[in-house]
Amino acid sequence: MSCKLQAVLFIACFFSASVSAAPQNTLLIRQGYLLPMIANGQDQPSTDILIRNNQIVQIGKNLVAADAKIIDARGKYVMPGFVDAHNHLWVTTMRGQFRNKQGKFFPVSNKLAKKMQPDDIWLAMYSGSLELLQSGITTTGDFFDNIHGPAWGDAGFRALEKSGIRAIMYYGGPDKTTKRMIDLTHLAELKKQSTDRVQLGLGWRIPRDLSSQQNWAMRDKEYRFAVQHNLPIQVHVSGDARAMFDALIDRQYLSPSLTVIHASDALPQQLNALQKSGGGLVLTPVSEQRVGYGLTLLNHFEDVERQGLGIDGNALSGGANMFETLRTAALTESGKAKDETLPDARQLLALATRRSAESIGLGELTGTLEEGKRADIQIINPNTLNMAGFGGGDPAALIVYSAQPENVETVIVDGRIIKADGKLQGINLEEQLRATNASAKKLLEHSESQM
Ligand SMILES: [Zn+2]
Repeated sequence: MSCKLQAVLFIACFFSASVSAAPQNTLLIRQGYLLPMIANGQDQPSTDILIRNNQIVQIGKNLVAADAKIIDARGKYVMPGFVDAHNHLWVTTMRGQFRNKQGKFFPVSNKLAKKMQPDDIWLAMYSGSLELLQSGITTTGDFFDNIHGPAWGDAGFRALEKSGIRAIMYYGGPDKTTKRMIDLTHLAELKKQSTDRVQLGLGWRIPRDLSSQQNWAMRDKEYRFAVQHNLPIQVHVSGDARAMFDALIDRQYLSPSLTVIHASDALPQQLNALQKSGGGLVLTPVSEQRVGYGLTLLNHFEDVERQGLGIDGNALSGGANMFETLRTAALTESGKAKDETLPDARQLLALATRRSAESIGLGELTGTLEEGKRADIQIINPNTLNMAGFGGGDPAALIVYSAQPENVETVIVDGRIIKADGKLQGINLEEQLRATNASAKKLLEHSESQM
Protein backbone atom coordinates (compact mmCIF):
# COMPACT_ATOMS: atom_id res chain seq x y z
CA MET A 1 0.00 0.00 0.00
CA SER A 2 1.28 3.47 -0.83
CA CYS A 3 2.09 5.81 2.01
CA LYS A 4 -0.48 8.19 0.64
CA LEU A 5 -3.24 5.57 0.74
CA GLN A 6 -2.14 4.52 4.19
CA ALA A 7 -2.37 8.13 5.35
CA VAL A 8 -5.86 8.48 3.87
CA LEU A 9 -7.01 5.25 5.52
CA PHE A 10 -5.52 6.35 8.82
CA ILE A 11 -7.33 9.67 8.70
CA ALA A 12 -10.58 7.96 7.68
CA CYS A 13 -10.32 5.46 10.52
CA PHE A 14 -9.27 8.17 12.93
CA PHE A 15 -12.34 10.32 12.40
CA SER A 16 -15.03 7.74 11.68
CA ALA A 17 -15.07 6.61 15.32
CA SER A 18 -16.16 9.97 16.58
CA VAL A 19 -19.29 9.98 14.40
CA SER A 20 -20.36 6.33 14.88
CA ALA A 21 -23.74 6.09 16.56
CA ALA A 22 -24.50 4.12 19.69
CA PRO A 23 -25.69 0.59 18.89
CA GLN A 24 -29.46 0.26 18.51
CA ASN A 25 -30.24 -3.39 18.38
CA THR A 26 -31.96 -6.33 19.96
CA LEU A 27 -30.19 -9.66 20.24
CA LEU A 28 -31.49 -12.95 21.59
CA ILE A 29 -28.90 -15.56 22.48
CA ARG A 30 -30.79 -18.84 22.50
CA GLN A 31 -30.38 -21.93 24.64
CA GLY A 32 -26.73 -21.62 25.53
CA TYR A 33 -25.08 -23.18 28.57
CA LEU A 34 -24.62 -20.07 30.72
CA LEU A 35 -21.70 -19.57 33.09
CA PRO A 36 -22.82 -16.22 34.58
CA MET A 37 -19.76 -16.01 36.90
CA ILE A 38 -21.77 -14.29 39.64
CA ALA A 39 -20.26 -14.86 43.09
CA ASN A 40 -21.76 -18.10 44.48
CA GLY A 41 -24.02 -18.28 41.41
CA GLN A 42 -25.09 -21.36 39.49
CA ASP A 43 -24.66 -22.25 35.83
CA GLN A 44 -27.86 -22.15 33.78
CA PRO A 45 -28.11 -24.81 31.07
CA SER A 46 -30.23 -24.17 28.00
CA THR A 47 -30.99 -20.54 28.87
CA ASP A 48 -31.61 -17.42 26.79
CA ILE A 49 -30.19 -13.90 27.09
CA LEU A 50 -32.06 -10.91 25.72
CA ILE A 51 -29.98 -7.84 24.88
CA ARG A 52 -31.41 -4.45 24.01
CA ASN A 53 -28.99 -1.79 22.85
CA ASN A 54 -25.94 -2.21 25.07
CA GLN A 55 -27.58 -3.98 28.00
CA ILE A 56 -28.54 -7.46 29.15
CA VAL A 57 -32.25 -6.93 29.88
CA GLN A 58 -33.45 -10.47 30.58
CA ILE A 59 -32.04 -13.91 31.30
CA GLY A 60 -34.42 -16.88 31.30
CA LYS A 61 -35.99 -19.81 29.48
CA ASN A 62 -37.88 -19.53 26.20
CA LEU A 63 -37.66 -15.75 25.90
CA VAL A 64 -39.47 -14.16 23.00
CA ALA A 65 -38.57 -10.95 21.18
CA ALA A 66 -40.06 -10.58 17.71
CA ASP A 67 -37.59 -7.88 16.66
CA ALA A 68 -34.47 -9.70 17.84
CA LYS A 69 -31.57 -11.02 15.83
CA ILE A 70 -31.23 -14.64 16.98
CA ILE A 71 -27.90 -16.16 17.96
CA ASP A 72 -28.17 -19.92 18.30
CA ALA A 73 -26.01 -21.04 21.24
CA ARG A 74 -27.20 -24.63 21.57
CA GLY A 75 -24.31 -26.87 22.62
CA LYS A 76 -22.12 -23.84 23.36
CA TYR A 77 -20.84 -22.08 26.48
CA VAL A 78 -21.97 -18.51 27.04
CA MET A 79 -19.78 -16.51 29.39
CA PRO A 80 -18.92 -12.93 30.26
CA GLY A 81 -16.08 -11.64 28.07
CA PHE A 82 -12.66 -11.84 29.71
CA VAL A 83 -11.30 -8.70 31.36
CA ASP A 84 -7.63 -8.01 30.68
CA ALA A 85 -6.96 -5.68 33.59
CA HIS A 86 -3.52 -4.49 32.43
CA ASN A 87 -1.97 -4.15 29.00
CA HIS A 88 0.34 -1.93 26.93
CA LEU A 89 -1.23 -2.22 23.49
CA TRP A 90 1.27 0.16 21.86
CA VAL A 91 3.88 -2.62 22.19
CA THR A 92 1.92 -4.84 19.75
CA THR A 93 4.14 -3.94 16.76
CA MET A 94 7.25 -5.22 18.59
CA ARG A 95 6.16 -8.83 18.34
CA GLY A 96 8.94 -11.37 18.15
CA GLN A 97 11.63 -8.82 19.13
CA PHE A 98 12.10 -10.01 22.70
CA ARG A 99 14.36 -13.02 23.17
CA ASN A 100 15.19 -12.37 19.54
CA LYS A 101 18.74 -11.37 18.62
CA GLN A 102 18.12 -7.93 20.13
CA GLY A 103 17.42 -9.39 23.52
CA LYS A 104 15.55 -8.11 26.52
CA PHE A 105 12.15 -6.49 26.68
CA PHE A 106 12.87 -3.16 28.35
CA PRO A 107 15.90 -1.96 26.33
CA VAL A 108 14.30 -3.07 23.05
CA SER A 109 10.85 -1.63 23.72
CA ASN A 110 12.30 1.65 25.09
CA LYS A 111 14.37 2.11 21.95
CA LEU A 112 11.53 1.31 19.52
CA ALA A 113 9.02 3.35 21.55
CA LYS A 114 10.80 6.60 20.73
CA LYS A 115 10.40 5.97 17.00
CA MET A 116 6.64 5.61 17.11
CA GLN A 117 4.59 8.32 15.46
CA PRO A 118 0.84 8.75 16.10
CA ASP A 119 -0.10 6.55 13.12
CA ASP A 120 2.19 3.78 14.47
CA ILE A 121 0.43 4.09 17.83
CA TRP A 122 -2.96 3.88 16.14
CA LEU A 123 -2.04 0.74 14.21
CA ALA A 124 -0.44 -1.01 17.21
CA MET A 125 -3.32 -0.26 19.55
CA TYR A 126 -6.07 -0.93 17.03
CA SER A 127 -4.58 -4.19 15.90
CA GLY A 128 -3.80 -5.15 19.53
CA SER A 129 -7.41 -4.44 20.52
CA LEU A 130 -8.73 -6.60 17.67
CA GLU A 131 -6.48 -9.42 18.84
CA LEU A 132 -7.92 -9.14 22.35
CA LEU A 133 -11.47 -9.11 21.01
CA GLN A 134 -11.05 -12.11 18.79
CA SER A 135 -9.83 -14.19 21.73
CA GLY A 136 -12.84 -13.35 23.91
CA ILE A 137 -11.35 -10.43 25.84
CA THR A 138 -13.99 -7.70 25.87
CA THR A 139 -12.34 -5.23 28.27
CA THR A 140 -8.79 -3.96 28.63
CA GLY A 141 -7.06 -1.74 31.17
CA ASP A 142 -4.53 -0.21 28.82
CA PHE A 143 -1.52 1.45 30.45
CA PHE A 144 -0.50 3.80 27.66
CA ASP A 145 3.01 4.96 28.57
CA ASN A 146 4.29 6.14 25.21
CA ILE A 147 2.54 9.52 24.82
CA HIS A 148 4.91 12.08 23.33
CA GLY A 149 2.26 14.74 22.72
CA PRO A 150 -1.51 15.16 22.35
CA ALA A 151 -1.53 13.54 18.87
CA TRP A 152 -0.14 10.31 20.37
CA GLY A 153 -2.75 10.34 23.14
CA ASP A 154 -5.54 11.05 20.65
CA ALA A 155 -4.39 8.21 18.34
CA GLY A 156 -4.51 5.67 21.16
CA PHE A 157 -7.89 6.84 22.40
CA ARG A 158 -9.39 6.70 18.88
CA ALA A 159 -7.94 3.22 18.30
CA LEU A 160 -9.66 1.89 21.43
CA GLU A 161 -12.87 3.65 20.52
CA LYS A 162 -12.88 2.40 16.93
CA SER A 163 -12.06 -1.22 17.78
CA GLY A 164 -15.25 -1.63 19.82
CA ILE A 165 -13.49 -2.88 22.95
CA ARG A 166 -14.39 -1.69 26.44
CA ALA A 167 -11.37 0.04 27.93
CA ILE A 168 -9.85 2.25 30.52
CA MET A 169 -7.01 4.12 28.85
CA TYR A 170 -4.55 4.91 31.63
CA TYR A 171 -2.90 8.04 30.29
CA GLY A 172 0.85 7.77 30.89
CA GLY A 173 4.00 9.72 30.20
CA PRO A 174 6.32 9.71 27.20
CA ASP A 175 8.64 7.05 28.63
CA LYS A 176 9.53 5.05 31.71
CA THR A 177 12.11 7.47 33.16
CA THR A 178 9.39 9.55 34.84
CA LYS A 179 11.41 12.76 34.40
CA ARG A 180 8.65 14.59 32.56
CA MET A 181 5.24 15.37 33.87
CA ILE A 182 2.18 13.72 32.34
CA ASP A 183 0.16 16.15 30.18
CA LEU A 184 -2.72 16.60 32.57
CA THR A 185 -4.40 19.25 30.43
CA HIS A 186 -4.70 16.84 27.52
CA LEU A 187 -5.81 14.04 29.83
CA ALA A 188 -8.63 16.31 31.08
CA GLU A 189 -9.48 17.15 27.46
CA LEU A 190 -9.79 13.46 26.53
CA LYS A 191 -11.80 12.71 29.65
CA LYS A 192 -14.48 15.06 28.32
CA GLN A 193 -14.75 12.82 25.24
CA SER A 194 -14.86 9.55 27.18
CA THR A 195 -17.89 7.30 27.44
CA ASP A 196 -18.63 4.43 29.77
CA ARG A 197 -17.15 2.14 27.09
CA VAL A 198 -13.83 3.97 26.72
CA GLN A 199 -12.87 5.68 29.95
CA LEU A 200 -9.77 7.54 31.06
CA GLY A 201 -7.43 6.83 33.95
CA LEU A 202 -3.93 7.81 35.05
CA GLY A 203 -0.96 5.61 34.07
CA TRP A 204 1.13 6.65 37.06
CA ARG A 205 4.77 5.84 37.78
CA ILE A 206 6.65 6.50 40.98
CA PRO A 207 10.25 7.81 40.90
CA ARG A 208 12.97 5.29 40.10
CA ASP A 209 15.08 7.10 42.63
CA LEU A 210 12.76 6.83 45.61
CA SER A 211 14.73 9.51 47.48
CA SER A 212 14.19 12.21 44.84
CA GLN A 213 11.93 14.74 46.57
CA GLN A 214 11.66 16.83 43.41
CA ASN A 215 10.36 13.87 41.40
CA TRP A 216 7.95 12.89 44.18
CA ALA A 217 6.53 16.43 44.17
CA MET A 218 5.73 16.08 40.45
CA ARG A 219 4.24 12.59 40.89
CA ASP A 220 2.17 13.82 43.81
CA LYS A 221 0.68 16.53 41.61
CA GLU A 222 -0.35 13.89 39.05
CA TYR A 223 -1.86 11.67 41.73
CA ARG A 224 -3.84 14.55 43.28
CA PHE A 225 -5.11 15.54 39.85
CA ALA A 226 -6.42 12.02 39.23
CA VAL A 227 -8.15 11.85 42.60
CA GLN A 228 -9.69 15.29 42.08
CA HIS A 229 -11.02 14.28 38.64
CA ASN A 230 -12.24 10.89 39.78
CA LEU A 231 -9.81 9.01 37.52
CA PRO A 232 -8.75 5.43 38.34
CA ILE A 233 -4.97 5.03 38.71
CA GLN A 234 -2.63 2.15 37.89
CA VAL A 235 0.97 1.95 39.10
CA HIS A 236 3.68 -0.67 38.45
CA VAL A 237 5.32 -2.15 41.51
CA SER A 238 8.12 -4.21 40.05
CA GLY A 239 11.89 -4.41 40.03
CA ASP A 240 12.62 -3.24 43.58
CA ALA A 241 9.02 -4.10 44.38
CA ARG A 242 9.26 -4.19 48.18
CA ALA A 243 10.83 -0.73 48.45
CA MET A 244 8.30 0.67 45.97
CA PHE A 245 5.42 -0.88 47.87
CA ASP A 246 6.73 0.58 51.13
CA ALA A 247 6.96 4.02 49.49
CA LEU A 248 3.29 3.79 48.45
CA ILE A 249 2.31 2.77 51.99
CA ASP A 250 4.48 5.37 53.77
CA ARG A 251 3.30 8.20 51.55
CA GLN A 252 -0.31 7.07 51.97
CA TYR A 253 -1.05 6.57 48.28
CA LEU A 254 -2.90 3.27 48.66
CA SER A 255 -6.61 3.90 48.10
CA PRO A 256 -9.64 2.39 46.33
CA SER A 257 -8.68 4.45 43.23
CA LEU A 258 -5.27 2.79 42.95
CA THR A 259 -4.58 -0.56 41.30
CA VAL A 260 -1.11 -1.99 41.84
CA ILE A 261 0.44 -4.01 39.00
CA HIS A 262 2.69 -7.08 39.55
CA ALA A 263 3.79 -6.58 43.16
CA SER A 264 5.98 -9.66 42.72
CA ASP A 265 7.66 -10.63 46.00
CA ALA A 266 5.37 -8.32 48.01
CA LEU A 267 5.45 -9.10 51.71
CA PRO A 268 2.28 -10.33 53.45
CA GLN A 269 2.05 -7.11 55.49
CA GLN A 270 2.25 -5.04 52.30
CA LEU A 271 -0.57 -7.04 50.70
CA ASN A 272 -2.50 -6.65 53.92
CA ALA A 273 -2.10 -2.86 53.70
CA LEU A 274 -3.37 -2.96 50.11
CA GLN A 275 -6.39 -5.02 51.14
CA LYS A 276 -7.18 -2.64 54.01
CA SER A 277 -6.99 0.37 51.67
CA GLY A 278 -9.59 -1.13 49.30
CA GLY A 279 -7.09 -0.88 46.43
CA GLY A 280 -6.77 -3.35 43.56
CA LEU A 281 -4.06 -5.72 42.34
CA VAL A 282 -3.37 -7.07 38.85
CA LEU A 283 -1.14 -10.08 38.18
CA THR A 284 0.17 -10.82 34.70
CA PRO A 285 1.47 -14.40 34.99
CA VAL A 286 2.86 -14.84 31.46
CA SER A 287 4.75 -11.54 31.23
CA GLU A 288 5.91 -11.64 34.86
CA GLN A 289 7.56 -15.00 34.33
CA ARG A 290 8.81 -14.07 30.90
CA VAL A 291 10.71 -10.98 32.08
CA GLY A 292 12.01 -12.82 35.12
CA TYR A 293 10.06 -11.24 38.00
CA GLY A 294 9.74 -14.71 39.49
CA LEU A 295 6.92 -17.21 39.77
CA THR A 296 3.41 -15.76 39.85
CA LEU A 297 1.86 -17.76 42.68
CA LEU A 298 -1.82 -16.91 43.00
CA ASN A 299 -2.10 -18.25 46.54
CA HIS A 300 0.50 -15.73 47.74
CA PHE A 301 -1.92 -12.92 46.85
CA GLU A 302 -5.19 -14.57 47.88
CA ASP A 303 -5.98 -12.15 50.73
CA VAL A 304 -6.34 -9.24 48.31
CA GLU A 305 -10.01 -9.19 47.38
CA ARG A 306 -9.95 -6.84 44.40
CA GLN A 307 -7.67 -8.85 42.17
CA GLY A 308 -7.46 -9.54 38.44
CA LEU A 309 -5.35 -10.78 35.57
CA GLY A 310 -3.69 -8.99 32.67
CA ILE A 311 -1.87 -9.70 29.43
CA ASP A 312 0.66 -6.84 29.91
CA GLY A 313 1.55 -6.43 26.23
CA ASN A 314 0.33 -8.82 23.54
CA ALA A 315 3.84 -8.86 22.08
CA LEU A 316 5.54 -9.31 25.45
CA SER A 317 3.32 -12.24 26.40
CA GLY A 318 3.49 -13.63 22.88
CA GLY A 319 -0.22 -13.18 22.26
CA ALA A 320 -3.49 -12.00 23.75
CA ASN A 321 -4.60 -15.32 25.12
CA MET A 322 -6.46 -15.40 28.44
CA PHE A 323 -6.76 -19.20 28.29
CA GLU A 324 -2.97 -19.41 28.20
CA THR A 325 -2.73 -16.89 31.03
CA LEU A 326 -5.05 -19.04 33.16
CA ARG A 327 -3.13 -22.21 32.37
CA THR A 328 0.19 -20.56 33.17
CA ALA A 329 -1.14 -19.38 36.54
CA ALA A 330 -2.65 -22.80 37.24
CA LEU A 331 0.42 -24.83 36.34
CA THR A 332 2.75 -22.51 38.26
CA GLU A 333 0.69 -23.02 41.38
CA SER A 334 0.13 -26.77 41.09
CA GLY A 335 3.78 -27.31 40.19
CA LYS A 336 5.08 -25.30 43.11
CA ALA A 337 2.57 -26.79 45.60
CA LYS A 338 3.04 -30.32 44.20
CA ASP A 339 -0.75 -30.56 44.32
CA GLU A 340 -2.60 -31.28 41.09
CA THR A 341 -5.92 -30.11 42.54
CA LEU A 342 -4.77 -26.48 42.84
CA PRO A 343 -6.05 -23.98 41.86
CA ASP A 344 -9.76 -24.47 41.28
CA ALA A 345 -10.71 -23.98 37.59
CA ARG A 346 -13.91 -22.12 38.36
CA GLN A 347 -12.07 -19.67 40.60
CA LEU A 348 -9.65 -19.07 37.75
CA LEU A 349 -12.50 -18.19 35.40
CA ALA A 350 -13.91 -15.83 38.05
CA LEU A 351 -10.50 -14.18 38.30
CA ALA A 352 -10.40 -13.52 34.55
CA THR A 353 -13.95 -12.14 34.46
CA ARG A 354 -15.79 -10.78 37.51
CA ARG A 355 -12.76 -10.22 39.72
CA SER A 356 -10.68 -8.63 36.96
CA ALA A 357 -13.51 -6.18 36.31
CA GLU A 358 -13.67 -5.37 40.03
CA SER A 359 -9.90 -4.93 40.23
CA ILE A 360 -10.11 -1.91 37.91
CA GLY A 361 -13.40 -0.55 39.22
CA LEU A 362 -15.63 -1.81 36.37
CA GLY A 363 -17.54 -4.41 38.37
CA GLU A 364 -20.80 -2.48 38.06
CA LEU A 365 -20.66 -2.59 34.27
CA THR A 366 -19.10 -5.87 33.21
CA GLY A 367 -17.55 -9.19 34.30
CA THR A 368 -20.75 -11.22 34.84
CA LEU A 369 -23.91 -12.17 32.95
CA GLU A 370 -26.60 -10.32 34.89
CA GLU A 371 -29.68 -8.34 33.98
CA GLY A 372 -28.79 -4.66 33.97
CA LYS A 373 -25.14 -5.18 33.10
CA ARG A 374 -23.59 -4.20 29.80
CA ALA A 375 -23.76 -6.97 27.20
CA ASP A 376 -20.07 -8.03 27.13
CA ILE A 377 -20.30 -11.69 26.18
CA GLN A 378 -18.27 -14.50 24.61
CA ILE A 379 -19.69 -17.72 23.21
CA ILE A 380 -17.34 -20.69 23.19
CA ASN A 381 -17.94 -23.47 20.71
CA PRO A 382 -16.55 -26.76 22.04
CA ASN A 383 -17.35 -28.71 18.86
CA THR A 384 -13.71 -28.91 17.81
CA LEU A 385 -11.01 -31.56 18.18
CA ASN A 386 -9.20 -29.70 20.99
CA MET A 387 -12.36 -29.65 23.14
CA ALA A 388 -13.82 -32.99 22.05
CA GLY A 389 -14.12 -35.93 24.43
CA PHE A 390 -15.80 -34.11 27.33
CA GLY A 391 -18.33 -36.47 28.91
CA GLY A 392 -19.54 -34.19 31.73
CA GLY A 393 -18.63 -32.53 35.01
CA ASP A 394 -17.68 -28.89 35.52
CA PRO A 395 -17.13 -27.25 32.13
CA ALA A 396 -14.89 -24.66 33.83
CA ALA A 397 -12.07 -27.24 33.84
CA LEU A 398 -12.68 -27.97 30.15
CA ILE A 399 -12.58 -24.26 29.28
CA VAL A 400 -9.50 -23.43 31.37
CA TYR A 401 -7.40 -26.39 30.26
CA SER A 402 -8.53 -27.03 26.69
CA ALA A 403 -10.03 -23.92 25.07
CA GLN A 404 -8.14 -21.73 22.62
CA PRO A 405 -9.02 -18.30 21.19
CA GLU A 406 -10.22 -20.15 18.05
CA ASN A 407 -13.03 -21.68 20.11
CA VAL A 408 -14.42 -18.21 20.82
CA GLU A 409 -17.02 -18.12 18.09
CA THR A 410 -18.99 -15.01 19.02
CA VAL A 411 -17.95 -11.84 20.86
CA ILE A 412 -20.36 -9.09 21.86
CA VAL A 413 -19.24 -5.83 23.49
CA ASP A 414 -21.65 -3.20 24.72
CA GLY A 415 -24.40 -4.99 22.80
CA ARG A 416 -22.51 -4.88 19.49
CA ILE A 417 -21.52 -8.08 17.68
CA ILE A 418 -17.75 -7.82 17.14
CA LYS A 419 -17.09 -11.45 16.17
CA ALA A 420 -19.59 -13.85 14.60
CA ASP A 421 -19.09 -17.34 13.19
CA GLY A 422 -15.44 -17.12 14.24
CA LYS A 423 -14.76 -13.93 12.25
CA LEU A 424 -14.28 -10.31 13.25
CA GLN A 425 -17.08 -8.29 11.69
CA GLY A 426 -16.57 -5.35 9.36
CA ILE A 427 -12.78 -5.59 9.42
CA ASN A 428 -10.55 -5.75 6.36
CA LEU A 429 -8.07 -7.98 8.13
CA GLU A 430 -5.72 -8.29 5.19
CA GLU A 431 -5.36 -4.52 4.92
CA GLN A 432 -5.00 -4.14 8.68
CA LEU A 433 -2.26 -6.77 8.89
CA ARG A 434 -0.37 -5.23 5.99
CA ALA A 435 -0.40 -1.75 7.61
CA THR A 436 0.51 -3.14 11.04
CA ASN A 437 3.42 -5.18 9.69
CA ALA A 438 4.66 -2.21 7.64
CA SER A 439 4.67 -0.05 10.77
CA ALA A 440 6.62 -2.73 12.70
CA LYS A 441 9.15 -3.05 9.89
CA LYS A 442 9.62 0.72 9.68
CA LEU A 443 10.19 1.00 13.45
CA LEU A 444 12.82 -1.67 13.37
CA GLU A 445 14.61 -0.23 10.34
CA HIS A 446 14.66 3.25 11.88
CA SER A 447 16.05 1.99 15.14
CA GLU A 448 18.66 -0.24 13.47
CA SER A 449 19.88 2.55 11.19
CA GLN A 450 20.83 4.48 14.31
CA MET A 451 22.57 1.66 16.12
ZN1 LIG B 1 2.80 -3.15 32.61
